Amino acid sequence: MNLEDYQGIWVFIEIKDGQIAPVSLELLGAGRELADKRKTDLAGLVIGSSVEEFASTLFEHGADIVYMYDDELFHYYRTESYMRAVFDCSEKHKPEVILYGATPNGKDLASAVATDLPTGLTADTTILDIEEDTGLLLASRPAFGGNIMATILCKKYRPQMATVRPKVMKALPREIGRTGKLIKETINLKEEDIRTKVLEIVSETTKNTSIDEADIIVAGGKGLGSKNGFQLIHQFADVLGAAVGGSRDVVEAGWIEHHHQVGQTGLTVTPKIYFAIGISGAIQHIVGMQNSGLIIAINKDPDAPIFQTCHYGIVGDAAEVVPILIKAFEETLD
Ligand code: FAD
Repeated sequence: MNLEDYQGIWVFIEIKDGQIAPVSLELLGAGRELADKRKTDLAGLVIGSSVEEFASTLFEHGADIVYMYDDELFHYYRTESYMRAVFDCSEKHKPEVILYGATPNGKDLASAVATDLPTGLTADTTILDIEEDTGLLLASRPAFGGNIMATILCKKYRPQMATVRPKVMKALPREIGRTGKLIKETINLKEEDIRTKVLEIVSETTKNTSIDEADIIVAGGKGLGSKNGFQLIHQFADVLGAAVGGSRDVVEAGWIEHHHQVGQTGLTVTPKIYFAIGISGAIQHIVGMQNSGLIIAINKDPDAPIFQTCHYGIVGDAAEVVPILIKAFEETLD
């Protein structure tokens, strides 16, 4: 493989519920820095149906080129068809880097593409850099339970691929009127070639706000004592109009479902306010919430590690402190 043949930084643009997924714009922000360092182009790769309208948004967020597969075949995300499109485009235009959001579809697609292209994949990256002269991507991610950061290199193969966690990179401010080159692609693929058929999409309906969109998160840990004790977290969140989060240990105890888990093996969140109640502050939890605007911790142990990360800390028993806060906020917000 001649590495010199591979040029340009690409971002797979995920379309979710008829919109560009926020992580794709974040990756264009990160990709812009890599492309400028390498003095090369930044491209967005869009796969979907009726997606042409998205090209201008991508140019305005930093893309120089948009490769587009716009076909009814791609209406729903399906591993097989999307993988074929990424493979086809990559073989044709030979990018040096392809970045994907570490979303369920992004992870699925990237790992499928990595089985077809002769290259590797770094999953769940949180820091990206590139060597200016060699073009070697430096993809860093927590390893060994979050205790060290590992920088993973793909020295001999191209494209270099990484999935990147949502909400870690920053999207560029929109530059109205910025344009680029739209390249429409087609692929020799028919509906009968695709084994998966999407019959119906069933959305999960929950009472709670989803934690990756919430401005305020009230998160609870094992310090709440029991599933019943954890109800305090729900009550407090209701008063504040907040989403409910939890540590891995409360998810494993069955006090709350996995999609509420914050941390290394859960979600990365950046709300304006994060309450960490009865949470010790293990590194695997901290990596998922440390960029929140304001962190307020409540813990009965004054030496709990969470107090190293929070902006404000209350040393006390959650069962006593939280009801006082609930009452105070109820009176204030009434
Ligand atoms: P504990 O560590 O048991 O802490 C409970 C805290 O509550 C203590 O600080 C205690 O002082 C306090 N407390 C007790 N009683 C009260 C009270 N009455 N009032 C107030 N405070 C009280 N963890 C995550 O959260 N997210 C992850 O994504 C994640 N991924 C992981 C991945 C790997 C590979 C590994 C090895 C671990 C992972 N963990 C993760 C687990 C993590 O290491 C911790 O075990 C976990 O975060 C601890 O949860 P906790 O703080 O709720 O419980």
